[in-house]
Amino acid sequence: MTADGEQGRPVTADGEQGRPVTAPARRVLMRTYAEPPVTFVRGEGTQLFDTEGRRYLDFITGLAVVSLGHAHPVVAEAIARQARTLSHVSNLYGNELAPEVAATIDRLIGGGTHPAGGQIFFTNSGAEANECALKLARRWAGPGRHVVVSTLGSFHGRTLATLAATGQPEKHGPFEPLPEGFVHVPYDDLPALDEALDPSTVAAVLVEPIQGEGGVVVPSSDYLSGVRDLCTERGVLLMVDEVQTGFGRTGRWFGFQAQGLEPDVVTMAKALGNGMPVGACWARAEVAAAFGPGDHGSTFGGQPLALAAVRATLEVMEREDVPARALRAGSRLAAGLAGLPGVLSVRGQGLLLAAVLSVPASQVAAGALAAGLVVNPVRPDTIRLAPPLLVSDAEIDEALAVLAGVLGGLV
Ligand code: PLP
Repeated sequence: MTADGEQGRPVTADGEQGRPVTAPARRVLMRTYAEPPVTFVRGEGTQLFDTEGRRYLDFITGLAVVSLGHAHPVVAEAIARQARTLSHVSNLYGNELAPEVAATIDRLIGGGTHPAGGQIFFTNSGAEANECALKLARRWAGPGRHVVVSTLGSFHGRTLATLAATGQPEKHGPFEPLPEGFVHVPYDDLPALDEALDPSTVAAVLVEPIQGEGGVVVPSSDYLSGVRDLCTERGVLLMVDEVQTGFGRTGRWFGFQAQGLEPDVVTMAKALGNGMPVGACWARAEVAAAFGPGDHGSTFGGQPLALAAVRATLEVMEREDVPARALRAGSRLAAGLAGLPGVLSVRGQGLLLAAVLSVPASQVAAGALAAGLVVNPVRPDTIRLAPPLLVSDAEIDEALAVLAGVLGGLV
């Protein structure tokens, strides 16, 4: 459908007069992202609709955020109800949702059946969850032991400290000097970590169970447990960044659970509020005890409106058993991808998948978008797929058919 409203405005998917998102309108936005190829105005489940009313299948979910699909009715209703009741109070006062939601997250960190015995600080994003972890590590370890070891290829956020922790030196240059005290070792390399873990200077290791932004890189099946053993031996905290992998995406509630270990700190965000900007930093109670009143804070973190979305999201996730659904749907999608022309290999777990291609990933992603499928070129030769965890078999097959067409034309 083309733009043809009364004043020449595009008609939205709702059939309403949309505001044209033209180049002059975008001039007021900082240019931290490339020009977007499309503007979405509405979503429903796995589907997105653009300003022209065109339908897309969303196989990236806002980068692993909208795990229950767009406009989930239970989450939408919970947000609306809370907005009519109480949106915000300062953390200087109590709010009824925070302890309840924290207890649910603590139970999911314990595997879903029993409390893990930790404490939670709520944030507004993944970077802030990691900032909380980094500050907590310094407070816990005390003066002099402030170094955090993270891995090359990792992604932990865009604030100055989380950028310093991010193991992508090419992103550091323009912003130096970055905060001091960050060391990077190759991912999935226990001997390198062993060498870096000097207990007189190192407070913590920060690691993703799967490197998401790094290209959906899955480490050896005993890597994280090896990291756990080294951290225990040196008296260093193991902090697992589950911002992208958390809440069922990899087929477990959290990615670390595949390796049967107990982290000291877990950070999370993305899927936590199904689109509501909210994150959290969980720590074992003895570690969390290093923080006292005044050590950390956030105006918005853990406010009732955000937590109403989280409570509803987690209720639906548990009811639907999203980890099991991710495993089932993930094996269908992975098997289908492996059989497509131009796909050299498929990696990932559950519904966090990547296909390595013999043709440029950006061309495949652009072709897919033009054909109504949203995927993400996470590396020059790799596309990432992270559809809603409630995606249907029919939607998976439709997405595979689109990709088959696009790849068939390029290979
Ligand atoms: N950590 C990981 C593993 C991520 O994938 C991301 C974002 O992609 C972040 C942290 C940063 O989260 P946010 O963009 O919400 O600050």
